[in-house]
Amino acid sequence: MITMPLTSAPVPGRVCWLCKHIKFYPGSPGYSSWTPSESFELGCNKEYWEFEQWEDALSDFRRKLQSAETCASFEER
Ligand code: SF4
Repeated sequence: MITMPLTSAPVPGRVCWLCKHIKFYPGSPGYSSWTPSESFELGCNKEYWEFEQWEDALSDFRRKLQSAETCASFEER
C-alpha cells in the first residue's frame, strides 16, 4: 500500500464510493481451462487501500471506505 496524502480539513461522511479512483471489479467465473476465473477486486486505484476479501471484517471495510474523509486525492465521479 502507498501512504495516502491527507487533507488539511477532513470532510465527515465522505466515502470512497463517490471518488473516481475507486476500483471495483466483480470477478468472472471460470468456464474452462482456456477461460479461467478472475477474482473480485475492491479498493483504491491509487493503491491507498485494498479490500481483503478473506481477512477484512465489516468494520475494516467501513473504515477503508471512510478513507475519503481525509484523502487529499479525492475526486468526485
Ligand atoms: S478518496 Fe482517496 S482513498 Fe478513496 S478511492 Fe479516492 S483516491 Fe482512493
